[in-house]
Amino acid sequence: MSENPLLFSGGLPPFDQIEAAHVAGGMRELLAELSSELEALEAAVGPTWEAAIEAPSALGERLGRAWGVVGHLMGVRNSADLRAAYEEVQPEIVAFGLRIAQSPALFGALEELSNSDAFAEMDDTQKRIIASSLRDARLSGVALHGEARERFNAIQAEMAECATKFSNHVLDATKAFALNLEEAADVEGLPESLRQLASQAAKEAGAASSTPEAGPWRITLDAPSMGPFLQYSPRRELREQIYRAFITRASEGEQDNQPLIARILELRREEARMLGFEDFAGMSLSTKMAPDVTTVERMLEDLRGASFDAAVADLADLRELAGKRDAVEKDDLKPWDLGYWSERLREDRYDYSEEALRPYFPFPRVLEGLFSLAERLFGIRIIAGDGEAPLWNPEVRFFRVEDESGDPIAAFYLDAYSRPAEKRGGAWMDECIGRAPGKKPVAYLVCNQAPPVGDQPSLMSFMEITTLFHEFGHGLQHMLTQIERPMASGIRNIEWDAVELPSQFMENWCYERDVLLGLSRHVETGETLPDEMFEKIRAARTFRAGSDMLRQLYFGLTDLALHHDFDPQADRNAFDVQREVAARTTVLPPLPEDRFLCSFGHIFAGGYAAGYYSYKWAEVLSADAFAAFEEAGLDNEAAVQKTGRHFRDTVLGLGGSRPPMEVFSAFRGREPSTDALLRHAGLR
Ligand code: ZN
Repeated sequence: MSENPLLFSGGLPPFDQIEAAHVAGGMRELLAELSSELEALEAAVGPTWEAAIEAPSALGERLGRAWGVVGHLMGVRNSADLRAAYEEVQPEIVAFGLRIAQSPALFGALEELSNSDAFAEMDDTQKRIIASSLRDARLSGVALHGEARERFNAIQAEMAECATKFSNHVLDATKAFALNLEEAADVEGLPESLRQLASQAAKEAGAASSTPEAGPWRITLDAPSMGPFLQYSPRRELREQIYRAFITRASEGEQDNQPLIARILELRREEARMLGFEDFAGMSLSTKMAPDVTTVERMLEDLRGASFDAAVADLADLRELAGKRDAVEKDDLKPWDLGYWSERLREDRYDYSEEALRPYFPFPRVLEGLFSLAERLFGIRIIAGDGEAPLWNPEVRFFRVEDESGDPIAAFYLDAYSRPAEKRGGAWMDECIGRAPGKKPVAYLVCNQAPPVGDQPSLMSFMEITTLFHEFGHGLQHMLTQIERPMASGIRNIEWDAVELPSQFMENWCYERDVLLGLSRHVETGETLPDEMFEKIRAARTFRAGSDMLRQLYFGLTDLALHHDFDPQADRNAFDVQREVAARTTVLPPLPEDRFLCSFGHIFAGGYAAGYYSYKWAEVLSADAFAAFEEAGLDNEAAVQKTGRHFRDTVLGLGGSRPPMEVFSAFRGREPSTDALLRHAGLR
């Protein structure tokens, strides 16, 4: 038994004892142990469930328990020491993970098992675990031999290199451009926060001095700088300059990504064909819920058909407003005018600010409302367990979850407040402990909302509330799993285009009058959110929904087309494909010199290749799932509770133990439809 607290053997992680100094030593001690166990395991492996699945998965589990704690602390209690320790051992962890994934002995046993008589006797969860293990192993190239294997590895290496170059070029090109402004007239209309940012940027770029009031100011292509500039600057020629720089980013000179795009697409096609797929889209979809390209295209086309006219009307609205204010661009709106006029229109129609909502939503009240919703829907009870678990920060809370009969089923940590000095931005759910025989699931829920000030509790913006609901939805799927096989319990083994179903589903409740009003209690007056404010929040949900939808479809369909019916070696190039898709998905066509693909890191340097559609796919599922409650009648408590229990027993309970389409259909009684998403967006 180790003395190292990182190698805790049971129960909750001893966060009060684990320090950066434990990481390298602890992980190496564990790796040494696991490596010799893996060798023994490979030597003795045979085609049985225990040897080919359970034993290797138990090794991965033990590695994940300790390394998961380190990863968690990197996110919530980061420090120079911890980062150094993490970087020191990370390559060894990755190498060990690859060694399990690419073990020929384990793969052989797995293949034999899948063809054995024993396989036929197994339950559906076991069969699905075996199928996805085999699939993942094959995708890692384990079944290729000799020259093919060498070529496959060379492709992997070159693709990794291309992706790194691609994102470095985007970074460098982003840094290389700036709009330097010196006259007060140049920053007219800009919000105070942007002037501050731009003044800061000017100083960092070497200006002798700069103040937000007197300048000089520097506007860059970073989203927090460029985004608000395009929304607020009335100076049309400046907007044009920055817009043009943005859409041609990384498309020329030393940072030219055009040759890389062609190369990446070629390599992906070659890789897919080596693994027996027609093209890269087919390979990508083999790991996803969407069955094939045709089905995805049909769904996106359905959304496109419903959004196009609305987007045309959105553009007409902007023209009309520009006309009313007699702007020069009124008859000839250009792409660099859209952000500006949309923002003016939004101000005209919905004059509430996120800040004005905060006093209505003190955190303790919101939490109470969220928990009581979960209790109503899913028949669970959530009980504060402060003091029952060691914490990484005194502000973190710990909660226990019980079922209807009071039996414990799960627990979670909630780390709600922003702590910029040591905590990563954004929000996420992660697993601390996964469900297995004798083990209850435990989740980490992490948000970054405004911290309390003095005696006043954290006051939440609407966005912070939907974020909390979102992460809680992921947490529910982890905690309410009914599957005891660790490889398919909770959120494990769920196709990634289906993973956002429960999280986005929970967000829908924030737009329900009774739920949202139930979360509100003005911090000073005790007043509930006024109805007219609620109506504005609701109306803002559908503002420019057609245009926003179309934009995502433009990206998703371009991504799909590039990885499906496009041959990188034929005469059309990627930009021809982009223009063909744009003809169907844009109301204001892109400029001829538009090279946005050169900075489309999601698909050329991230994990979204032939997968960008997933954003819309998951939204369709979550909206449709929520519609089941609407159909049952949101004011019919018995029906809501019944539907909630059904959701718990299917989507939340079955998780990755069944194909996601089967799980969805088990809940909904049919396959997903785009109707609800379009209705919620005001498009149908
Ligand atoms: Zn999510």
